[in-house]
Amino acid sequence: MTEKIITRFAPSPTGLLHVGNIRTALFNYLFSLKFSGNFILRIDDTDTQRSKEEYTNQIIEDLNWLGVKVDKIFKQSERLEIYNKYFQDLIDKAFVYKCYETPDELDSKRKRLVARRMPPIYDRASLFLSEQEIKKYIDEGRKPYWRFKLSGKRSNFDDLVRGEVSVDTSAQSDPVIVREDGGFLYNLPSVIDDIDMGVTNIIRGEDHVTNSGIQIEMFEAIGKKPPTFGHHPLLVDENGEPFSKRNSAASIKGLKEKNFEPMAVNSLNISIGTSIEVNAFQSLEVISKELELSQLGRAPARFSMSQLFKLNSNILSRLDTEAVSERLNSIGAVMDEEIWEIIKSNINNLPEYKNWYNIVRGSIKVDDLDGDFMKLALDLLPPEPWGDDTWADWISKIKESSDRKGKDLFLPLRRAITGLNAGPELKKIILLIGYNKVKNRLLGN
Ligand code: GLU
Repeated sequence: MTEKIITRFAPSPTGLLHVGNIRTALFNYLFSLKFSGNFILRIDDTDTQRSKEEYTNQIIEDLNWLGVKVDKIFKQSERLEIYNKYFQDLIDKAFVYKCYETPDELDSKRKRLVARRMPPIYDRASLFLSEQEIKKYIDEGRKPYWRFKLSGKRSNFDDLVRGEVSVDTSAQSDPVIVREDGGFLYNLPSVIDDIDMGVTNIIRGEDHVTNSGIQIEMFEAIGKKPPTFGHHPLLVDENGEPFSKRNSAASIKGLKEKNFEPMAVNSLNISIGTSIEVNAFQSLEVISKELELSQLGRAPARFSMSQLFKLNSNILSRLDTEAVSERLNSIGAVMDEEIWEIIKSNINNLPEYKNWYNIVRGSIKVDDLDGDFMKLALDLLPPEPWGDDTWADWISKIKESSDRKGKDLFLPLRRAITGLNAGPELKKIILLIGYNKVKNRLLGN
């Protein structure tokens, strides 16, 4: 029997998820979908100072909005007993050791090494303390913190994205796993959860490659086979800068509030830097069939807002009337099918509809009209009834009577009639706006 695939996304609830974070979530979710597996959301909230319930709720809402279906949710803060059990086992087997240095002492050690151009690796001094020295520290009121003892060997693994990877654990400090206040740091609880939840595949950003090398030693210390890892290149913005939790413009919440279609966000996120062509996908199921982690590029993937607008526009133009009505209601607008049909291929984002609704059904004010040209256009404006040929007839008459053509001819008319420099075909728009309003707009009223 083949093993059931279990993946997980493990955000810390210390800020809003951004497009870079959800890239990791999507890779894991799509991988589980592709192999009919399960997808777990694990909230890494052991840092009680920085973790916030509101962010946890927002993460759940964001994933839901994107269409990522979570099979199970776990919070690390509710699993401390389990971590302590495994931790005790590591103590018993001497895979971990107590340390007594203060943060200041560690810092000066680090600085001394750096000054001598040596790698700032922890020297394991606490491993060699005598009983008296330890007693002295304890009497001084110092509380021990704990480190995991790395083997000093190379930790090798076959990465789903990068192929053969080798992490030299002798180039790393023994990781601190428990703070002096007894709180767990990231590495060990992550390994314990991955074991406990039967995670088979861990896909995450390439900033975690070294952690994976370290965690493999923890899996082995606990006596478990490590899962399969895959590290994807990180997402960067148009300027090549990484996304940050502090930049709310690229947050999923922000994109939702700007009325982007979730599948536009998903489609772009998953097609940049992968072998998947940029395309407005209908569903995550469809994307999952195309995803091949081994085909991911190695360069950082660039997320561009202009591409997002394009995909969004593409998806909007293909939505059925019911779906559009629903979305319009949610932004306080009313569906007008005539308007929608004409503008749907010309808008990047749903709120633009409101503007077009106003242009067609409401009133606008345009300044700086070219009075003489408007007067000429008005004189030649065909009388009602109007039909499909009205625009062409009108334009050819204006052309005959003026020396204008191209942009000089169309742009002033477009501006006068719609107030904008671009938009859907005027041939169609004028029929919706109607004779009286067009006349008034040419007059500047
Ligand atoms: N909370 C960690 C992070 O957000 C999880 C990393 C992981 O194990 O996937 O970076």
